[in-house]
Amino acid sequence: IWAKVLSNIKENITQTSYSTWFLPASIHRIDDELKIVYIQSEKSFNVNILNGRYKKLLEDSVEAVLGSSYRVITKETTEYEKEGESLRSVPEPPAQTRLKNKDLITSGLNKQKLFNPRYTFDNFVVGNSNKYAQTAAMAVAESPSQAYNPLFIYGGSGLGKTHLMHAIGIYLLEHNPDLNVLYVSSEMFTNELIKALGDNKTREFKNKYRKVDVLLIDDIQFLEGKETTQEEFFYTFNTLYDLNKQIVISSDRPPNELVRLEDRLRSRFAWNLIASLSPADYETRVAILMKKAQNNKLEVTDDIYDVICLIAEKITDNIRELEGAFNRIISFSSLMHEKIDRNFAKRILKDIVVNGGDSVTPEKIKTVVSRHYNITVKDMESSTRQQTIAYPRQIAMYLCREMTDYSFEKIGNLFGNRHYSTVMHACEKVQKDMAKDDSLKHDIDQLKAKIEN
Ligand code: ADP
Ligand code: MG
Repeated sequence: IWAKVLSNIKENITQTSYSTWFLPASIHRIDDELKIVYIQSEKSFNVNILNGRYKKLLEDSVEAVLGSSYRVITKETTEYEKEGESLRSVPEPPAQTRLKNKDLITSGLNKQKLFNPRYTFDNFVVGNSNKYAQTAAMAVAESPSQAYNPLFIYGGSGLGKTHLMHAIGIYLLEHNPDLNVLYVSSEMFTNELIKALGDNKTREFKNKYRKVDVLLIDDIQFLEGKETTQEEFFYTFNTLYDLNKQIVISSDRPPNELVRLEDRLRSRFAWNLIASLSPADYETRVAILMKKAQNNKLEVTDDIYDVICLIAEKITDNIRELEGAFNRIISFSSLMHEKIDRNFAKRILKDIVVNGGDSVTPEKIKTVVSRHYNITVKDMESSTRQQTIAYPRQIAMYLCREMTDYSFEKIGNLFGNRHYSTVMHACEKVQKDMAKDDSLKHDIDQLKAKIEN
């Protein structure tokens, strides 16, 4: 199976990436019941890359080979070995990989829709930035269909939308295990619909959604420009709404900015409550990391508190990255048997802290590249394929990939919601072109220098 997956992957990325990241990896085991493929690799760095940058590619390739969708989780070989023994000393792996068999919280409706047990209201730290959304979510969880319906939660990436949606689901199931609670990302909804259309099973599809008591649909912006899916969603939405079923929707933007989402769909979102999540303030960021330390049974010494403050100072607008940085420090300290303190943290985070790595943003890249090619940032984010715009766009995508740690998917979102494979293709094209064309390489080096200053 792995060989087939590999050959699929090979077609999609450069030879170097392929041999660096994928060749040293292999399948540890496949859990057919939970639909998870466990991958192993010797190097922790590779594990991070496979879990981050290439997760989607892995999942797509596995799906292509196995014929149905699996989650792919990569861990270090030694971690699998340790797993059988004590879990105590092992640092907490990222959220996605933390689901353990016994922890799965499933809804009666569909055993495959899982809630991350970590995403509870208890674990959600409340501050000014999220108080309103948290209160609304809590109200919906306590009295579905009665408090706010539909509830629309929006906010930038990594600010807790998915966490809140899972929290609602978990709370509902804890208090009423028989309730049909369904959480789907809009991406899952789309894929499911496409599959149903292909298999002539749209009736089943419709029926399944009709049976839902509470529908939690995440990242609705993903439906932009997908007309058939929107139509089906509209139908589902109306059906459930008419039956007085609770609907919760999340998006990275407020409804009125979902420009490419059909009008009738958009206006529906104005029916009831719209709650936003904004970046957490400093105190909340510290509180989130403290909570995390506590959940990890990590004793917060003065040194660790110092490190927490350092991270909270440096990473300001994305809680996922905030947690990621903290995770990284914990993992590295146990890996290298070093004590966590400010200096250690600075070393680990040097790309963020010392080089001021966070000053390179996709916005900056877009601005510099647009200016250089005499186009506008709007052009870059538009859907036009006109070569004078498309090529600079590809270059900007490539630079985002090179200079930030955004995933292909995230970069795609930033350039007019393009598919991650489009971004992947752009990066490889620019790389190839640079190898052939010295003047292009020179241009790009200059752009890089400009962006860094
Ligand atoms: P989004 O869906 O908005 O992109 P997520 O819900 O996935 O963001 O949140 C990213 C990470 O940050 C998750 O691990 C989540 O648990 C954590 N997180 C976000 N907000 C909070 C909060 N207020 N308290 C604790 N953890 C949070
Ligand atoms: Mg999310």
